[in-house]
Amino acid sequence: MKIYNTLTKKVEEFIPIDKNEVKMYTCGPTVYNYAHVGNLRTYIFEDIFEKTLNYIGYNVKRVMNITDIGHLTSDADTGEDKMVESAKKEGKSVLEIAAFYTDAFFNDIAKLNIKKPAIIEKATDLIDEYIKIISVLLDKGFAYISNGNVYFDITKTNDYYKLSGRNEEDLIIGARSDVEEDKNKRNPFDFVLWFTSSKFENQALKWDSPWGTGYPGWHIECSGISLKHFGEYLDIHCGGVDNIFPHHTNEIAQSEAYVGHRWCNYWVHGEHLNDQSGKMSKSKGDFLTLSLLESNGYNPLVYRFFCLGSHYRNQLVFSYESLDTASSSYEKLLNRIKSIKKDESIIDEEKVEMYTIKFKSALEDDLNTANALTILFEVVKSDELNNNTKLFLIEDFDRVLSLDLLKNEEIVLDSELVKKIEQMIKERDEAKAEKNYTKADEIRNELLSMGIIIKDSREGTIYEIKESEKWN
Ligand code: AMP
Ligand code: ZN
Repeated sequence: MKIYNTLTKKVEEFIPIDKNEVKMYTCGPTVYNYAHVGNLRTYIFEDIFEKTLNYIGYNVKRVMNITDIGHLTSDADTGEDKMVESAKKEGKSVLEIAAFYTDAFFNDIAKLNIKKPAIIEKATDLIDEYIKIISVLLDKGFAYISNGNVYFDITKTNDYYKLSGRNEEDLIIGARSDVEEDKNKRNPFDFVLWFTSSKFENQALKWDSPWGTGYPGWHIECSGISLKHFGEYLDIHCGGVDNIFPHHTNEIAQSEAYVGHRWCNYWVHGEHLNDQSGKMSKSKGDFLTLSLLESNGYNPLVYRFFCLGSHYRNQLVFSYESLDTASSSYEKLLNRIKSIKKDESIIDEEKVEMYTIKFKSALEDDLNTANALTILFEVVKSDELNNNTKLFLIEDFDRVLSLDLLKNEEIVLDSELVKKIEQMIKERDEAKAEKNYTKADEIRNELLSMGIIIKDSREGTIYEIKESEKWN
């Protein structure tokens, strides 16, 4: 497949280090508030990416962090600690805040049919790992201690700006003027690895370290979590475009300084969702959540459908008008699919191959979800495909799209199968009557393997279709 790599600024062929397992790291939420729908756009894009890799035959190991410490209101280590600030505002402890918003995050992603990453690591659970890495960075001369904090010295790396493609002057001009300067830094873009002395006296969570009691900076968390779970090499690292600088830039600097070679091959970033006034941001206080969309009557999957309609590298502007358009087109699609009834038609293997290749090609082309949806519409409307072929393809595409396309579909068994099931149930009833429980169990298991669950009821033996195992 081809994917745009922020590091090389090119669409490149994706070649994993180990073809048996793609190593994918995706930055997770800072759990001081609900995720806004912009954040969720990024998680939807990452979900599609992971499922596309699965679809084309790769096993993917995906790791995500939960940031529950160290992320300050400015990504450049100044301002207030987001968690502490939120705890103060809500009159709760930092841990209570973290637990509450972590749960809220899992609820949101479940509603959007986003597969939970295989490994989810809370930043506060790997403190020893960060201490180990920071000690090595100090030993190697990449880090220094200033006024009690440990900083990374960006002038010790060869190519600090390689990911952002910018230079120091640009960044200084672009830096937010309302954020105070940290006088302890040798260079303006040096960043904190470990805080000991700081103005956050009410910081609730602190740990002992060789440099005094304190807590880790935000950037070291993702490097530490990734290095712990993947070792020294990583295939893919994702996030939203705001993560390119400084977060991912700093992750590269410290991880490569630590391992002594190139660390991650593909950096893939999703563009932002904006509201009509500009950037959507959690710190604005009043922001759009999935629950708000739900309370306004929208099915969360309408939002997923809305996101898939545009390319992940294009900015997307949110408005209720465009969500309404997505909603009616999603409804029409579901209704059309509902009218395709399972029948006795034979699945046309040649057509299946033709359409799956088209669908795959769209996704392999830098995750072109809009084109993938076009192929889905083609299938649904096609005059040349019989019903069972259509249903087969729709179910197959939904492994990636995850739009519950067939959820409301009534499954109708063909008459031959019904006859067979009834015959098997009769044989099982006879076996039971003869107290031949081994045979009865064998028949039950055979039915189960056909996707049929049987239950003994007062009306005799009844059966139902096992809900097919969901991909996500
Ligand atoms: P946070 O919880 O602030 O650490 O952000 C979680 C994820 O959402 C990160 O990958 C961000 O890059 C991403 N993100 C932040 N704002 C937006 C936005 N407006 N649109 C899309 N993604 C965003
Ligand atoms: Zn991160």
